[in-house]
Amino acid sequence: MEQFKQVPPALKNQYDDDRVLRSYLARVLPPDVLHDIEESLTEMGRLAGGELYELQLADRLNEPKLTQWDAWGNRIDKIELTPLWRRAERIAAEHGVVATAYEQKHGRFSRVHQCALAYLFTPSTDIYSCPLAMTDGAARTLLNSGNQTLIDRAVPHLITRDAAEFWTAGQWMTELTGGSDVGLSETIAKQDSNTHRLYGRKWFTSAIGSQMALTLARPEGNPPGGRGLALFYVETRDEHGRPNNIQVNRLKDKLGTRKVPTAELTLDGTPAQLVIGPADGVRNIAPLLNITRLWNGISSVALMRRGLALSFDYASKRVAFGAPLSEKPLHIDTLATLQAEFEGAFHLAFYVAELTGKSETRELSNDDALLLRLLTPIMKLTTGKQAVMVASEVLESFGGAGYVEDTGLPVLLRDAQVLPIWEGTTNVLALDTLRASQGLKRFEAVVLGCLENVSEARLTAPVRVVRSAVDHAGTWAAEAQDEAREAGARRFALTLGRTIELALLIKQAQWSLDPETLDSANRFANVGVDVIF
Ligand SMILES: Cc1cc2nc3c(=O)[nH]c(=O)nc-3n(C[C@H](O)[C@H](O)[C@H](O)COP(=O)(O)OP(=O)(O)OC[C@H]3O[C@@H](n4cnc5c(N)ncnc54)[C@H](O)[C@@H]3O)c2cc1C
Repeated sequence: MEQFKQVPPALKNQYDDDRVLRSYLARVLPPDVLHDIEESLTEMGRLAGGELYELQLADRLNEPKLTQWDAWGNRIDKIELTPLWRRAERIAAEHGVVATAYEQKHGRFSRVHQCALAYLFTPSTDIYSCPLAMTDGAARTLLNSGNQTLIDRAVPHLITRDAAEFWTAGQWMTELTGGSDVGLSETIAKQDSNTHRLYGRKWFTSAIGSQMALTLARPEGNPPGGRGLALFYVETRDEHGRPNNIQVNRLKDKLGTRKVPTAELTLDGTPAQLVIGPADGVRNIAPLLNITRLWNGISSVALMRRGLALSFDYASKRVAFGAPLSEKPLHIDTLATLQAEFEGAFHLAFYVAELTGKSETRELSNDDALLLRLLTPIMKLTTGKQAVMVASEVLESFGGAGYVEDTGLPVLLRDAQVLPIWEGTTNVLALDTLRASQGLKRFEAVVLGCLENVSEARLTAPVRVVRSAVDHAGTWAAEAQDEAREAGARRFALTLGRTIELALLIKQAQWSLDPETLDSANRFANVGVDVIF
């Protein structure tokens, strides 16, 4: 008997197939830069939609393994990564997924190029973006620190394209006492001739296979709180490959990001070097967090894009009630609304990449530096929330198949769920938004600037929504006081995030006059931008 078989969703070249990325790059990059980088993006798009995606599906049940002891009683704490991650590491190095930002072949546009590579690469790697984000952040932090010894020692490894020389970095901040309130950290740094030794417990340390880490500890005699912590550089293994007085107590059993080996560590006399000074560690590690938050935003849009690419493809293959889902007005309307959400998020994440690129080439005005300070937490928190919502809806768009593990779909939702948690939770970043409110004036100017020259009649309604949201947010910022201000911080930050997403989307729609982008701008405007009450 001939039985029905469902044709599964498939991916094409993920660069060629991405209208949003291509149209955005055509708008923001000078034509010669786009011409120069396009080959690298096409190649990454090919890998992401082909070889890497196939490997990802085949690797589904594999997880990293921790072996704590060898046969002869030696503590080895060996971490074995899965085949997908080993392949991803090689591809990341060789294709410059970190290096591109530091080679600076295209000046301030190098960061946009690198983020485009990361965006294509990430969804086929089960969050290999995590070690890359921290590697990138460590390189930026060391370079900013001016500590030439550490720069010479580590940075060439972090930004190389030679896979054999490539290092990844960890970021060990969170302790049992607090991930948000890191000032409570209990790890102590004891002076030992011209180095330090660290004693304490780190509670969440991702990508523990890394060769180095940046971490916080309190030098003996320093006061309590964040200012008493100092920023330290640690190498995880000694010259014989043995753990550097670091014990990996266990790997976390997590909801998602299961390819990421996230460990609980004991530091028991771990040799460490001060990166900058003997205090102000929380402030000194900020460059790392700015970069990892940018990666978080890029990963958020990358996961949304992957879900939607699969879902749109499936809609043309799945038949219900006499026609493919792609011919059902309600199904298409549902996907188009998710697409609008993705497009808004995309433009905000890449706008932050543009500003980051300018800051790295010292082309950022003072006003834009304040804007970048404000937008980094806003972008991270807004896109993280959108990623979870979109991933959840994407699963539903597959019906029962979206809930079944061997389709490779549920992992999208589980992995997306970490995006609002790590690198600062939504509430913690919303409070940070209040602290960064010096950038509000420039924010308003940039948002209203996106509306200048909008002549397309189909954008009239979205423009009105942006103007009204900017006014309301400005009034709230001027009037809300004390407890009401703190309690309303999340709504305020999300309103700013959604407002600038819509403004950037309008700008792109006016520039391209592409019907789908115009439709996305209208949908985004209608689903809710201003959430302040
Ligand atoms: C998979 C995974 C990997 C991770 N990897 C790393 C890593 O490599 N390195 C690292 O350092 N950390 C890592 N973390 C830790 C992560 O950064 C922290 O879990 C996160 O910052 C939150 O800290 P916490 O868990 O202590 O939660 P808490 O700080 O206890 O927060 C609990 C809740 O309270 C809210 N909250 C806290 N303060 C306030 C406030 N003032 N007002 C309102 N609400 C507030 C938070 O938003 C949150 O919802 C990882 C976490 C996960 C899940």
